[in-house]
Amino acid sequence: DSLKLVNMLKESIKKHEITNEVEVVVTGCFGFCEKGPILKVYPDNVFYITVKPEDAEEIITEHVIKGRKVERLLYVEPNTKKRLEGQKSIPFYKKQIRIALRNCGFINPEDINEYIAADGYQALAKCLTEMSPDEVIDTVVQSGLRGRGGGGYPTGLKWKYTRQNQSDEKYIICNADEGDPGAFMDRSILEGDPHSVLEAMAIAGYAIGAQYGYIYIRAEYPLAINRLEIAIKQARKLGLLGENIFSTGFNFDIGLRYGAGAFVCGEETALIHSVEGKRGEPSSKPPFPAQRGVWDKPSCVNNVETFANISPIFLKGPAWFKSIGTEKSPGTKVFALAGKVNNVGLVEVPMGITLREVIYDIGGGIKNNKKFKAVQTGGPSGGCITKENLDIPIDYESLNSIGSMMGSGGMIVMDEDNCMVDIAKFYLEFTKDESCGKCTPCRIGNTRMLEILEKITKGNGTEQDLKDLVELGDVIKDTSLCGLGQTSPNPVLSTLHYFQDEYLAHVKDKH
Ligand code: SF4
Repeated sequence: DSLKLVNMLKESIKKHEITNEVEVVVTGCFGFCEKGPILKVYPDNVFYITVKPEDAEEIITEHVIKGRKVERLLYVEPNTKKRLEGQKSIPFYKKQIRIALRNCGFINPEDINEYIAADGYQALAKCLTEMSPDEVIDTVVQSGLRGRGGGGYPTGLKWKYTRQNQSDEKYIICNADEGDPGAFMDRSILEGDPHSVLEAMAIAGYAIGAQYGYIYIRAEYPLAINRLEIAIKQARKLGLLGENIFSTGFNFDIGLRYGAGAFVCGEETALIHSVEGKRGEPSSKPPFPAQRGVWDKPSCVNNVETFANISPIFLKGPAWFKSIGTEKSPGTKVFALAGKVNNVGLVEVPMGITLREVIYDIGGGIKNNKKFKAVQTGGPSGGCITKENLDIPIDYESLNSIGSMMGSGGMIVMDEDNCMVDIAKFYLEFTKDESCGKCTPCRIGNTRMLEILEKITKGNGTEQDLKDLVELGDVIKDTSLCGLGQTSPNPVLSTLHYFQDEYLAHVKDKH
C-alpha cells in the first residue's frame, strides 16, 4: 500500500502541475506500525495515519493546495476523542526518546545529502580531525554505552581491548544478523538510516586501528541490503569511505557479508566463522574476537543499534548521553513491541522506563480490553515477566534479576487467552531447530526438553516431568558452549516458575 500511495501522490502532484513546489520523499519506518502507512506533510508537520492509496488525491487537493487538513486521517486520542495533528502529541510517541531511530521516518535513506543535512558525518569529521583514537575511546567509555545486541557489555571497553592488541590488520564487524522471532529493530535502522551505521563503523575503525569493516546481514533483509549498498557507494563517492578520509590519511572501507538464516550466526564467534566462509558454529572463548577474530586478527563486533548511538555521543557529548536512562544503563533501547497490545510497533524508550509505561502508555494497553498475563523480553533467550513486575525499571540488571533479559529488543505481550506452556514450547521449538549441534547439552538436551513439553501438552505428562524439565534446563544452561544453549531453557524455566499452575493443569487434565 505504501508504494501504491507514493505513486498515486506523484500522479496527483503531476496532474495538478505542482511538481516544482511539492516533493514526495520516501523515508524509513516511523515505528507506529499499527497505524501505517503514515504520511507527514511539511512544513505544517501534520501526521496522517492509516493512509490508503485512494486518499492521495484528497491530501493533495485539500491539504497541499487548499491548506485544509484531512481531519479523518488524523490520530484520535482514545480517551478524549480529540484529533491530534502533531507526531509528538500522540501518546505512542510522547514517552519515546529517539537517538538510534533519530532519522528513521525523517530522511530519505537513499540520499546521503539528507543524512549530511541532519548533521551526518560531522561526528566522523570531529573524531578524525580533533581527537586521538584514545580520546575517541575515552568518550565512548564515559558515555556508558552498553552493547545493544543483548549482552550489555560496555562498548568503550570493547574498543579499548581491541585497540590494545597489536596487529598489522584489525577489523570492525557490524552484527546485523537479527534473528529473534518478532524482532525488527536492526532492520528498521538499516532501512531507515544506513549512513548512521557506516559513520559509526568508520569512527570505531579509527579508534581501534582498523581499515576495514564487515556488515554481516541476513540475506532475508533485501531492502536493508539494497539501502546499505546505495549508502556505501554514495559515501565512497564523497570520500567519506575509502582512502584518505577528510584528508587525514585515514583509510576505511566496508563490505557486506550475507547470513543464510542461521540464528546461531548472531553469536560473535559463529558470525566470524561465517564471514570467513566457514561453517557458522561458535567456538569457545578465549580467545575473544578482540584478540583473535576474523582472519585471526583482532576484531571488534558491535550490533547495529549500538553503532546507531555512536554519532550523537560525539556531537552532543558523553554527559548528555549519560543524562538519559539509568546510572548503570545510560541511553535508550529500541524494542519491537508485538503481541496482544493495541499499538504494535517499534519504540525507542529511555532505560529505566517501566514495562507498564511501555505496554499501557505507549502500547495503548491490551487488545480488546483483555487482561494482561505476561510479557516476554529477550526473545528465545529471555523469560516471561508477570504483572507483579510491571513496575520495575527496564535495564540490563533488573530484567536479569527477575529471570528475563534485555536481549536485542523483542517484546511480546501475552493476554489471558495465551497458554504459557504453548508459548514456552514455541520458543523451545525455535532454539532446538536453531541449535548448531556442536555440543551435546544443547543438541540433545533441548530435544529431550521439547519431547517432555510435547508429552505434557498432549495430556500425557506427570509431575515428575516438570521436575525433569527444571533439572535438564539447569544442566543445559550450565554446560552449553555458547549463548544459544546457555539461555535456551529460559522460557521454559521462567514459565514453570511463574505459571506452574498452567503446567499442572495440563498434567492434571489427564488424570
Ligand atoms: Fe551449537 Fe547449541 Fe552448542 Fe551453541 S550451545 S555451540 S548452538 S550446540
